[in-house]
Amino acid sequence: MTNPEIIDIHLHLCRDTQQEKTVFPKAGWPDEWYWASPDKVIPYMDARGISHVATMNIIDTGAMVAGRIRRAREQGASEAEIADARVTLREDMQERVRAFNTLMCEAHAKEPRIIPYMMIDPILFGEAAIEELERCIALGAKGIKVHPSICGHFPDHPNMMAVYKRCEEAGLGVLTDSTSRARGGAEAFGTPLGWRPVLQAFPHLKFIMAHLCDDIWDDRLELSREFKDNLWFDMSGGIVDAHHPAGGHSMLTGDQAPRVFRKIGVERILFGSDGPGTGRGEDVLEAAGEVMRLALTDAEKEQILAGNAKRFLGLK
Ligand SMILES: [Zn+2]
Repeated sequence: MTNPEIIDIHLHLCRDTQQEKTVFPKAGWPDEWYWASPDKVIPYMDARGISHVATMNIIDTGAMVAGRIRRAREQGASEAEIADARVTLREDMQERVRAFNTLMCEAHAKEPRIIPYMMIDPILFGEAAIEELERCIALGAKGIKVHPSICGHFPDHPNMMAVYKRCEEAGLGVLTDSTSRARGGAEAFGTPLGWRPVLQAFPHLKFIMAHLCDDIWDDRLELSREFKDNLWFDMSGGIVDAHHPAGGHSMLTGDQAPRVFRKIGVERILFGSDGPGTGRGEDVLEAAGEVMRLALTDAEKEQILAGNAKRFLGLK
């Protein structure tokens, strides 16, 4: 198998290198090595045979607000001042998300190989989540990223149902985080089975559950049997092998992966690096190498690395 085409269905581009250094810092890296922003990613892709990347917009606005409130308290702010600050901060964070969504749609307009998935947060935007989606559709968005554990909601949150419906109608993809683990003492909002009501309600939604190689594969397998037409998976987080220990979204070993993938159906599994986070996402080829090392046929590897994503994204 020579020079395979790669489509990365799940990475996180930043606004620029400065932002990338803050969000995904790499010890010892000079600025020139950072690659995950619209101005740098195309030569990076060309050097690796990556034809397209889908970029997932997500900002942990809850953590940013909590940090600022904490600092205000430390500086002696009164409860009334904190309450005022919460209102202003909410507007600031909404504006931040809108600006980030706009930026990635503009990147796509300039370079169609960058496929923009928007951050739609039903807590931050409330009932206006659908308005943000409409704004992004007008700008050329191709999908949405839903992250229940960062945003703090269950998959079938009432403000999201209209959003999924519109995505289904407009042919936009939905890519969701999934994990059994809770963040910071909250509930585990994004478990695989939590998506069942959404998959039931929207049988034609183009839906990718990220992190197939995370834990509780039994629930993922159950869903794959139940939703044959609308449920796809990405393998971002990656495989446990001689080069990569278990941890994060990576729990499935390389010797078991072919068996699990075939049970689900290799034609529904998409390659994603979750880059440029630390570990294998630092370089997309590091993650793609894991696929190449699996005991799958060349045809199956081609499907996972690019063919399935072409069908999903409607690319030639
Ligand atoms: Zn991710």
